[in-house]
Amino acid sequence: MPKTRKRILTGDRPTGSLHLGHYVGSLKNRVKLQDEYESYIIIADVQALTTHWEKGESLYQSVMQIASDYLAAGLDPNKVTIFIQSMIPEIHELTMYFSMFTSVNVLRHNPTIKTEAAQHGFSEITYGFLGYPVSQAADITIFKADLVPVGEDQIPHIEFARKIVRRFNELYAPVLVEPQAMVGEVPRLIGLDGQAKMSKSLNNAIYLCDSPEEVNKKVWNAVTDPARIHKNDPGHPEVCTVFAYHQIFNPQEVSAIEIDCRQGNIGCVACKKNLAHKINQLLAPMHERRQKYSPDDIKDILREGTLRAHAVAKETMEEVREAMKIAYF
Ligand code: ATP
Ligand code: MG
Repeated sequence: MPKTRKRILTGDRPTGSLHLGHYVGSLKNRVKLQDEYESYIIIADVQALTTHWEKGESLYQSVMQIASDYLAAGLDPNKVTIFIQSMIPEIHELTMYFSMFTSVNVLRHNPTIKTEAAQHGFSEITYGFLGYPVSQAADITIFKADLVPVGEDQIPHIEFARKIVRRFNELYAPVLVEPQAMVGEVPRLIGLDGQAKMSKSLNNAIYLCDSPEEVNKKVWNAVTDPARIHKNDPGHPEVCTVFAYHQIFNPQEVSAIEIDCRQGNIGCVACKKNLAHKINQLLAPMHERRQKYSPDDIKDILREGTLRAHAVAKETMEEVREAMKIAYF
């Protein structure tokens, strides 16, 4: 299949439902660019195993959940190819070839690997976890992707993938394409608990599938300015999670809210109610779109997407093997 348009490759690990961090960090860009780019969206189930190797039985459910989240967010299966990583064996083959010229020390010093290892409480890290940026480089490059819409934490991995491409092309032949990262309007959305990152694993997220009641409850419990006890106490929006979310999900009112908060004119209760309402407005059309797809529809979309993706991956691997002079017969 010759490349007729620029390509996108991006995706998520099926370790749970997608949340607002995914939406503003990457998903929103994917929806926006689906008409312009030939888009491949990977459900990275093998990468999920790097931290969830004991929870294989929950993968299927998470794969279905993430696919449903994609469709709810507005990815159109007639425009984008959604596929499952483990079902493309060529990705694993390319990972192996890349690993031959990848330094272990470079992986050890990768800042995202370090942060995530600490986040997961790993006292020791596995071969698979340490090497996931290599496998991610294979995911991207097997599709000759030009652009990778991702959150900020992924930048070191895209930089690493670019280096692998340069090295491969220099060692063998110029077959692979150097990808560019594209970070969303919010590079890193903070968690409801005020932690640095909203994350599935940290249990501090508002999910795209959360009902209005769940959203209300979560926003109600979000961390605010601890110095503010009474409604009329002057607030410090810069330390308040709810304010950080107003900046993103309620841009029209944010300036007024900042002034009112600093002057103690608006209480946290009203401020939280307003935010929950804005988030529910964002999620409402997603709930509606989600209803349109049955589990069987989702399985068909994944099956067809995986077949299409597999055909592209096979072609690149033929070129890779030719370039590496390991195409024997
Ligand atoms: P896990 O905790 O299982 O690693 P995660 O919430 O970090 O899950 P991933 O599947 O690792 O999600 O990330 C998928 C994509 O979403 C990546 O591009 C990542 O940068 C982006 N992303 C995840 N969380 C956020 C966030 N809080 N803000 C912005 N982008 C995010
Ligand atoms: Mg992650």
